[in-house]
Amino acid sequence: MQDLLNDVRQGVRDLCARFPAAYWRAVDHEREYPEAFVQAMTAAGYLAALIPEEYGGSGLGVTEASVILEEVNRSGGNAAACHAQMYTMGTVLRHGSAEQKQWLLPAIARGDLRLQAFGVTEPGAGSDTTHLETTATPQQGGYVIRGQKIFISRVQHSDYLLLLARTTPVAAVTRRAQGLSVFLVNLRDALADGLTVTPIDTMMNHETNALFFDDVWVPEENLIGQEGEGFRYILDGMNAERILIAGECIGDGEFFIDAATRYARDRIVFDRPIGKNQGVQFPIARAYAQVRAADLMRFDAARRFDQSQSCGEQANLAKLLAADASWDAANVALQVHGGYGFAADYDIERKFRETRLFQVAPISTNLILAFIAEHVLGLPRSY
Ligand SMILES: Cc1cc2nc3c(=O)[nH]c(=O)nc-3n(C[C@H](O)[C@H](O)[C@H](O)COP(=O)(O)OP(=O)(O)OC[C@H]3O[C@@H](n4cnc5c(N)ncnc54)[C@H](O)[C@@H]3O)c2cc1C
Repeated sequence: MQDLLNDVRQGVRDLCARFPAAYWRAVDHEREYPEAFVQAMTAAGYLAALIPEEYGGSGLGVTEASVILEEVNRSGGNAAACHAQMYTMGTVLRHGSAEQKQWLLPAIARGDLRLQAFGVTEPGAGSDTTHLETTATPQQGGYVIRGQKIFISRVQHSDYLLLLARTTPVAAVTRRAQGLSVFLVNLRDALADGLTVTPIDTMMNHETNALFFDDVWVPEENLIGQEGEGFRYILDGMNAERILIAGECIGDGEFFIDAATRYARDRIVFDRPIGKNQGVQFPIARAYAQVRAADLMRFDAARRFDQSQSCGEQANLAKLLAADASWDAANVALQVHGGYGFAADYDIERKFRETRLFQVAPISTNLILAFIAEHVLGLPRSY
């Protein structure tokens, strides 16, 4: 187990060494999709880590997958460009039909098809998913999609979008979580049939978009699982996503600590390395302790997930602790670098912008705290 993990770690490290900081700086500056990097990750099979071997993937667990993403971020890269290709297919794997799995999973494993866009958030439904208003209405052997989505990432580099839409009106269900369904949307067909994609300029290089569905028809064979069960299907993927994102945060934390430590050793001020000052070294030591603690929780959550044990508490704690640890480490690294931390050439400001996202997406810190308060501590639901 440990040998496998070490091999995975080393393999990703070697691949990432071909994409140095200058590469990431350039794609960030140009707001380009890191296509060459994603191609290399695909060709090496890392994005098919979670696809079972029978479908051509490597059949690894969430433990190994989270280490893959950790190493990408640790190297100074940004796994956000490709992490969804790794796990969006999980909904198809768990709830799709035999035909859907046969058609999609081997193609994803070969790198012939990208399913890395995930359409849930709407202007009126971010944290509160069940308030989404996009509808899918049965028509002519399929469904007509109407509505709006926001912050939907990697659409321009995806062949398919996994979409959550309402198939039964709120008035006809007893709970809002009912009546939602998941669809595979062929993006090329949809673009020719009423889908508009408008890029959103964000503080980091993250290909995210507003989507407008103006009566886009999707064939009924693209419905995943049972109509009306979509919210449950999406929830089923949340624990894996949280553990994988925790891996990315830990990678960011390690990047910041490595950079801060190096700089604190090398930078001479008042004729001595700044790292000789406790005011400089203690914050780095504290950030290191936080990252290591989050790492333990990540591995605990991942082990439980891979052994099919319940892991809602651990997955949420891992994401919370890892996102906080990476953000604290980012602030420490920026401070240690003084003015140079703000200069793009040092990569701190870029990673600082990138790691800030984890406090909000894919789920905000407050919503994780609300989960822990309600589901772990048994406190009254706060919303
Ligand atoms: C760069 C980027 C990429 C994204 N990519 C995708 C994607 O590919 N697909 C997708 O579907 N979505 C995506 N998202 C959306 C992301 O998941 C949402 O932004 C996130 O879930 C929060 O929703 P919101 O922005 O509507 O915030 P809101 O729900 O409006 O919340 C705003 C603030 O209020 C707080 N808040 C709300 N309710 C409560 C409460 N009851 N108690 C305490 N605090 C509360 C939240 O914590 C948050 O800080 C992306 C977002 C970004 C920024």
